[in-house]
Amino acid sequence: MLTRLQCLTAAVRTKRPIVQCARRNSKLTFDEVLNKEKSKTTLQAELPYIMTHRKYKYSEGKVYHGFECKRIEYIPDFELTSCTLRHVGTGTEFWYIDRNDTNNVFSINFRTTPFDSTGLPHILEHLALCGSKNFPVRDPFFKMLNRSVATFMNAMTGPDYTLYPFSTMNEADFRNLQKIYLDAVFRPNLDYLDFLQEGWRLEHKELNNQKSDLIIKGVVYNEMKGAFSENSQVFMQNLLNNMLPDHTYGYVSGGNPLEIPKLTHDDLVKFHKKYYHPSNARIFCYGSFDLMRTLELVDKKYLSQHEAINNSYSRIPSQLRWSRPRNVHIPSRLDNMGASFNRQNQIAIALMMCDITDIQESFELNVLCEVLIRGPNSAFYQSLIEPNFSGGYNQSTGYSSDCKDTYFVVGLQDLKVEDFKKFNDLFDKTVLKTIKEGFESQHIESVLHNLELSLKHQSPHFGNALLFNSTALWNHEGDVVSSLRVSEMIAKLRSNLKDSKNYFQGKIEQYMVNNTHKLTLTMSPDEMYEENFKQAEKDMLKQKVSALDSVNLEEIYQNGIKLEKSQKTIHNTDVLPCLSIADVKDPPNLPKIETNTIQNVLTQLCKVPTNEITYLKCLFNITGLTQDEVMLVPLFCNVINDMGTQKHDFRTFDKLILSKTAGIDFKLNFVENVKDAKSYRLGLMMTTYALDKNVPDMFGLCQELLLNFRLEDTGRLKMLVENYISNISVGITSSGHIYAMLSASGLVSDAAKLKSLLSGVDHIDFMKNYLQQNNIEKICDKLKAIGKKVFNKSNMRSAINSSDSYHASAMHHYECFLEKLPMFEKTKSSNEIKLLEPSLQHYVMNIPVNYCAKSFFAAPYLHEDHPVLRVLAKFVSAKYLLPVVREQNGAYGAGAKIGSDGLFSFFSYRDPHSAKTLNAFDNTYEWLLTENANIDQQTLFEAKLGVLQQLDSPIAPGNVGIDYFLYEVSQEMFVKYRSRVLSVTVDELRNVIHRYFKEEPAHFGKCILGPANDKLEQETKLKWKVIS
Ligand SMILES: [Zn+2]
Repeated sequence: MLTRLQCLTAAVRTKRPIVQCARRNSKLTFDEVLNKEKSKTTLQAELPYIMTHRKYKYSEGKVYHGFECKRIEYIPDFELTSCTLRHVGTGTEFWYIDRNDTNNVFSINFRTTPFDSTGLPHILEHLALCGSKNFPVRDPFFKMLNRSVATFMNAMTGPDYTLYPFSTMNEADFRNLQKIYLDAVFRPNLDYLDFLQEGWRLEHKELNNQKSDLIIKGVVYNEMKGAFSENSQVFMQNLLNNMLPDHTYGYVSGGNPLEIPKLTHDDLVKFHKKYYHPSNARIFCYGSFDLMRTLELVDKKYLSQHEAINNSYSRIPSQLRWSRPRNVHIPSRLDNMGASFNRQNQIAIALMMCDITDIQESFELNVLCEVLIRGPNSAFYQSLIEPNFSGGYNQSTGYSSDCKDTYFVVGLQDLKVEDFKKFNDLFDKTVLKTIKEGFESQHIESVLHNLELSLKHQSPHFGNALLFNSTALWNHEGDVVSSLRVSEMIAKLRSNLKDSKNYFQGKIEQYMVNNTHKLTLTMSPDEMYEENFKQAEKDMLKQKVSALDSVNLEEIYQNGIKLEKSQKTIHNTDVLPCLSIADVKDPPNLPKIETNTIQNVLTQLCKVPTNEITYLKCLFNITGLTQDEVMLVPLFCNVINDMGTQKHDFRTFDKLILSKTAGIDFKLNFVENVKDAKSYRLGLMMTTYALDKNVPDMFGLCQELLLNFRLEDTGRLKMLVENYISNISVGITSSGHIYAMLSASGLVSDAAKLKSLLSGVDHIDFMKNYLQQNNIEKICDKLKAIGKKVFNKSNMRSAINSSDSYHASAMHHYECFLEKLPMFEKTKSSNEIKLLEPSLQHYVMNIPVNYCAKSFFAAPYLHEDHPVLRVLAKFVSAKYLLPVVREQNGAYGAGAKIGSDGLFSFFSYRDPHSAKTLNAFDNTYEWLLTENANIDQQTLFEAKLGVLQQLDSPIAPGNVGIDYFLYEVSQEMFVKYRSRVLSVTVDELRNVIHRYFKEEPAHFGKCILGPANDKLEQETKLKWKVIS
């Protein structure tokens, strides 16, 4: 895949649920992630960096456990010390980041450069995690998910690298996982049966009937079919393949489903031997745990057994520059949830930029791209977006620095074919205009301010972000250490801009005008796309089958039976390490939260080390809005900050916001009563943050927006509404399980129904119809009415997180802000929840895989059964759903969860089946009965650890206290809930099984997102509501 494949656990991680407003247009590019995640310490932009001769525990030139320390540098931007080491025997690079952060990270990266699209590196990534020499257990990785309190565990395949990262705050856990990961990559078993399960295989439709038809199965095979059912993924993949076609980037590293069945097990074993050699490995280690223990383990147990080899075979040459631009057109699947057929096209122009290892140049080009693309003050936004002939930027837009050569992309989605030419003309005109007119320095400054602010903003996953953002550069032997000196790079850019008035124009001329390595990629829907794919799949299958002789056929039959047997065998997992209760018994330290009433506004205060940033959240109760108005709140949240105010037009206002704050965002908030789940509240939350010195401006801008928002510009509003609708229909299939659960829950209660209408698949349909039936003036009036009703202090609560030293000042500015807000009458605070009659819904989508879900009402969050059910959900996921729905039936993911709304849900992800999976959900009770005797202390404890991973996940300083603020779950309640999770007994688990699973629940819903299926009623013997 172009960026990264989120493998294995991608579909499974959910935190305490927060309603996701359907705004999903903010795709993070690689570099935005970098900027958002980097944090800490004072900027020294004006001062040259001076290496202080501080005494450090390690020294350059010394050898530690077989590793020679090559370079030590202190990076003040992030308060970290970087230590680069190299293994003397094998040449393995080892990058250690020493930082006072408890969320430690470890990762092993390989440069993997495939020369076909069979998905070799991707299938190898899966197989490496299927058992190794020291841990000969089926799927130790998945088993470890329940024996650890990892804050992150995954493996990913990029276009030219494969990485195996994890993070954890617990040192015992860190040491356990290190052993598993190292053994997995350096000494995997790579069993043939695992290859059949994870990669691809021919198998009889009815396993035990040798006369039944043969079909193709495999986890990655289905994963990739699912990945390419998202048009934006297809577009991005093709952009990469066509932009850098000459070497490894010309292929699909994740695997093209039609090519996957060309891969043999033998190819895979050879590839492992060559590319997973220690000399081709890079090891990353971050945090506060002792380095020496890690080095000793890596050297003694793994690297010392290998000799160095020359790893230049995996190096990637620069793409040869073209002498003339190219055009490529590709077909896509018709998305029945997307825009109308004649508008469902995409176009993008991509231009080759620089080598990734040229870090200052790449950094400056990244900033330049932001200046050109982002927001209403940028040239491309003004020329391409504001004329409103498309659905806005497409997902590929931005600066791409994930490969050896970087490139810039600007593209549009949902436009007519007739407008392709217009796009090209506008592109050229914009480039020339920018060269002629230059840039407004205030605009550039606002982009740089945002970058500097993001350096200070603290993220609890800093180590992972650092790894992900450095991987591509490191992989190409770039200077990753210097690339961390962000404020130096900013200072250098500032000085370049000062020295040469036309600095950026020069770059535009070089990279955009005099650049013949330019690709124009267009994509249009083809009604035959799915048919063509099915036909090609059929032909491939036919060809495969016709080549088989009787010996092969017998082998396939036997393998099918062997695989099923092995999948059903219970393996002894005792060889795997596991945490003990003593490792996790104490809750994490929770900072103190105060609540005061200030000018009648309930205000939550939290003094935490925020690194000179003040965070503000204002939550407006909107339960008093009419049903009609509520339905428009997601749209309201999306446009209100983009329209300007009475005092400032939208361009000026955007500039002001970006130069003083991190942005002012609005989001719908939906909370069920955690005590009884009998009522719910609707809220609208405003969030923002700023450097302490800009806090007066931050409050001033919030006040201006809340009191003087402006919606009258109906031309602009129309454009924003249309872009909004285009954006909400992107990405449904990549989060299909979330949408399926939202819809299934929506069949259980009226509150969940509303939630699905506000943020689920139903929301897309609602918005499309709404726009058809109402003119923009009417929409404008409705939105105005919402703002007028909502923004007042009588129905508001706030939360402020700031450092101790700035707290008093923050409070002073907050009080001034409150004084200006109007007082209204208090509106009602909550609505009652009504449970619904059971029903079933099938959303017919033009995709080749299914997402299935079943939900039922179980118990409210604070009910004593809730923690038990949460433990049970983990147990059922790990011991029942994963083995059956994933391993045996071939879905990419499956699981169960219970939300804070009290709804218990099952889901499957990229699933070849529907009726069969729903049947498996229904059979949970029968399975639990047969499993009853096997529930022992260890399985119970593992399920508890799964819950603790979520409960104890680290929280950013700006978000401390959020659970109390949103859900009224106090720290005492949290601690009680946590200890309840830890104390769950086997008997209690058995009790809830009988109480909640024995009888079909009174209120449940089932939902499928997937292809048309006329046999569904026959297969399920139930009546389905079909929505197409
Ligand atoms: Zn995968």
